[in-house]
Amino acid sequence: MNILIFGPNGSGKGTQGAIVKDKYGIPHVESGVIFRENIAKDTELGKKAKEYIDKGELVPDSITIPMILNRLKEDDCKNGWLLDGFPRNPAQAKALDEALKKEGISVDIVIEIVLDREIAKKRIMGRRLCVNDNNHPNNIYIDAIKPNGDKCRVCGGELKVRPDDQDEAAIDKRHSIYYDAKQGTMAAINYFKELSAKNNGIPKIIELDGRPGVKEVSEKLLSQLG
Ligand code: ADP
Repeated sequence: MNILIFGPNGSGKGTQGAIVKDKYGIPHVESGVIFRENIAKDTELGKKAKEYIDKGELVPDSITIPMILNRLKEDDCKNGWLLDGFPRNPAQAKALDEALKKEGISVDIVIEIVLDREIAKKRIMGRRLCVNDNNHPNNIYIDAIKPNGDKCRVCGGELKVRPDDQDEAAIDKRHSIYYDAKQGTMAAINYFKELSAKNNGIPKIIELDGRPGVKEVSEKLLSQLG
């Protein structure tokens, strides 16, 4: 099973991705993770990518496209993969589609977690971390998991913010790439939607409303995966 997953920062894409990966026993190929591994190991690719990542920009296609296409040729991807963070623009979408065609394979499923830009931003900026347990979810903008005053709603512990979560300019920059339907990730999603429309519903498009809680979204996802 070859699957693409899309969702803006703040949509819970990471959590849903892990569920899909476990269901099919396929590797979760995440472009951001591959870049970070290369940066940590100080490889040539890592050095080049870091310049762009530090500025919050996309790494050029000339680096990203071959990196991902090569990764998909590795042994563990033989029975399928879940691709996350790629494609992020129409050129990457087309390159992926054409490279797969050459290999005689195609994308089977495209998952899109749909979430309004304003809500996605609030999800990130409203996140509060419990000092006792990082798994105690608290968010000042989500009624269901609002903290109890300024304390953790589960255990009453102190709450902290993650500095990254409060960097509004960085969040806006990433979202501007994601929601750009001409040159950004939305355009990549539309590429596969158009392909599906022309190709009898292949790949299957699964659009999920990202507004409910993680559990509800994953239940919907699993029911649609069948
Ligand atoms: P985010 O920080 O937005 O959650 P990731 O962890 O997926 O994103 O990726 C971190 C960074 O790596 C991105 O901000 C971008 O600079 C780079 N990157 C990841 N995927 C791609 C891609 N498909 N094309 C270009 N650059 C990418």
